[in-house]
Amino acid sequence: MAKNFTALALATFLSLPLIGCITTPQPQMATTETFRVDSDTYQSQGKSERIKTIVLHYTVSDNARSIKTLTTGQVSAHYLILDQGDDKIYNLVPESERAWHAGNSYFAGRTILNDTSIGIEIVNAGIAQQYRGALKSGELDYHPYEHFVTFDDLQIKKVAQLVQDITRRYGISPKNIVGHSDIAPSRKIDPGAKFPWQQLYEQYDIGAWYDEADKKYFIRQIAMTTPTIAQIKQAFREYGYQINTTNAWDKPSRDVIYAFQLHFRPLNPTGQMDVETYAILKALNKKYAGRDNFY
Ligand SMILES: [Zn+2]
Repeated sequence: MAKNFTALALATFLSLPLIGCITTPQPQMATTETFRVDSDTYQSQGKSERIKTIVLHYTVSDNARSIKTLTTGQVSAHYLILDQGDDKIYNLVPESERAWHAGNSYFAGRTILNDTSIGIEIVNAGIAQQYRGALKSGELDYHPYEHFVTFDDLQIKKVAQLVQDITRRYGISPKNIVGHSDIAPSRKIDPGAKFPWQQLYEQYDIGAWYDEADKKYFIRQIAMTTPTIAQIKQAFREYGYQINTTNAWDKPSRDVIYAFQLHFRPLNPTGQMDVETYAILKALNKKYAGRDNFY
């Protein structure tokens, strides 16, 4: 008892000058025109990481042209994954700086995603050469799965390692690992229907994916009701997509459907709303309910 009391008294005595020093600093008169930044005395609790999102892209060109474009032009990315059998992932822009990869963009309440994202470019041709004219000729509204070029397995392994590392370091939420098309649906279709989102989720726990049982449940439920366009668009907004408020599936709205399908129903991306697409969207909203805070 006596020993404890002594120890306590000693601790109190020892801590007194320290407390006095830290909590009540005496203002000192400035004696110079160069002021000192004090990072130690006061610390805020309210803070979070600046990086919130990872955006995946394909480059639509080969290794040499991708390197040239991303290192000498006005577009850039934090990381570049070439299509060659080496063990490298190239870091082109420090993570603490902005890379210019996202352009005019929106996701989950945030705009100008260059400010808050890490961009990863993967060398891939995108749409195979022989299909590139299909939209221009008016033959098709949107490219089907078969038009996209497959990614190399080694590239996907590199993407997996890199995304896992970035996600861990910044605490990025699954929904915020997105494709360029998710954040700019009327301008972009990369990383396309052959980017293996489901494989990354299942093998590496990367990104968001729906539960099959939920999808089946919602397919049955939707069949018994008739959701309005407004309700479906609201579900897109709930997930994070930007979509207009017209009461029609106009081109900008269909672009969002297509972007969603590229990501979550890649074998059959049509740009048309259907029961399965809406069921997947509902299943995702159920699983990933609640948004990140926007502080
Ligand atoms: Zn892109």
